Amino acid sequence: MTAIKEPSFRESVDLMFNRAASLMDLPPGLEEKIRVCNATYTVRFGVRLRGEIHTFTGYRSVHSEHMEPVKGGIRYALAVNQDEVEALAALMTYKCALVETPFGGSKGGLCIDPRKYEEHELEQITRRFAYELAKRDLINPSQNVPAPDMGTGEREMAWMADQYARMNTTDINARACVTGKPLNAGGIAGRVEATGRGIQYALREFFRHPEDVKKAGLSGKLDGKRVIVQGLGNVGYHAAKFLSEEDGSRIVGIIEWDGALYNPDGIDVESVRQWIVKHGGVKDYPDATHTAEGATVMEQECEILVPAALEGVINLTNADRIKAPLIIEAANGPVTAGADEVLRKKGTVIIPDMYANAGGVTVSYFEWVKNLSHIRFGRMQRRQEEARHELIVSELERLDRYLGDAWSMSPDFKAKYLRGADELELVRSGLDDTMRIAYQAMREVWHSRDDVEDLRTAAYIVAVDRVSKSYRAKGL
Ligand code: GLU
Repeated sequence: MTAIKEPSFRESVDLMFNRAASLMDLPPGLEEKIRVCNATYTVRFGVRLRGEIHTFTGYRSVHSEHMEPVKGGIRYALAVNQDEVEALAALMTYKCALVETPFGGSKGGLCIDPRKYEEHELEQITRRFAYELAKRDLINPSQNVPAPDMGTGEREMAWMADQYARMNTTDINARACVTGKPLNAGGIAGRVEATGRGIQYALREFFRHPEDVKKAGLSGKLDGKRVIVQGLGNVGYHAAKFLSEEDGSRIVGIIEWDGALYNPDGIDVESVRQWIVKHGGVKDYPDATHTAEGATVMEQECEILVPAALEGVINLTNADRIKAPLIIEAANGPVTAGADEVLRKKGTVIIPDMYANAGGVTVSYFEWVKNLSHIRFGRMQRRQEEARHELIVSELERLDRYLGDAWSMSPDFKAKYLRGADELELVRSGLDDTMRIAYQAMREVWHSRDDVEDLRTAAYIVAVDRVSKSYRAKGL
């Protein structure tokens, strides 16, 4: 079979951007300014491991600084490269604008297979990488705030935050230099589950609009819907777990690196997750049929397909065989520009990545605010609560002035804060508000304009319009 040549990931993102920009009335030159990546820093550093020097290559790309700090995860994977990091950084710009987190876009990556190293080796590598980035303000609470991504998690964020703090001993805001930290190192409740939770909230909001549900040829609510999840990592696992345990959806397919599971009666997500933890993959899992050719399971009948791992998994080689009428992009860039066109023509509704997986950065924003305010979120002891009530109110007013619309968008969130609600409850309600409001902004454009066929283009229009307004307000 001849391989079908498709644009690179960054080109794919640019094509989608161009599609939306052609429907907008941007001042000359601004379109290109927004599209391009401002800078990408490449670092090569050596770490002595097992008696030998190993050289690693890492990147941190800054796509847009229309707001600072810039924000975005750091990925650990062998396939990391400049094109990918730049595409992901661009998506961060649009994502943050769409959900109104007051950040520019950035992304980082290290070419490494983390499974090949012991924990203490990974710590050494991570600290050295963090040192290289922090030295150039590419980790910094007011300039550039990384977070977890594929192959990284709380542990790596704690090492990075500690490395930054050691290099900046007098920075009282040091903890805000990265988000996604463990709770005992300045993290926030609900950050680990946040992206998966965001997928659930996004779908709930979608199903609140019968008109949109009908566009996908579906009806009713999430209850009873068949779902196929590609990738049971942090995002896929939480999304599948919440959808099946709380919304009555049926997970009929799970695709992992070593094949896929299929069971039309439904698969128990928690038990598959335990199986993977114990055996390293899904093979031999007893309560479903295992197929070695995992990708074919994405082509099975279902109502909702959730690609939650790598970019480009739905491409020109398989797009026309995808049966799901509704795709929600839990991963960044899982559908290539070519596949997007094929699916659009078929009438498939795609809830785009920049909206669907924005739960992570939204809760990162809460964590960053919590770190900067130096005030604990959530319930306090009764006496403490009374004594601090005034302080919290004045602090909220200060944040209001500082953060403007981004903070005021959620009266429910503020009310809960004043009530002293539990931190997790606060985080979830703030996230829910954010996902609902952003969806409504997107659908407004989708429904009100005849020239906007799909949610992705609508999302780009909303996001790029906001970015362009902030450029125009502050000058280039
Ligand atoms: N890596 C996540 C993303 O792609 C989270 C970024 C963040 O929290 O800054 O959105």
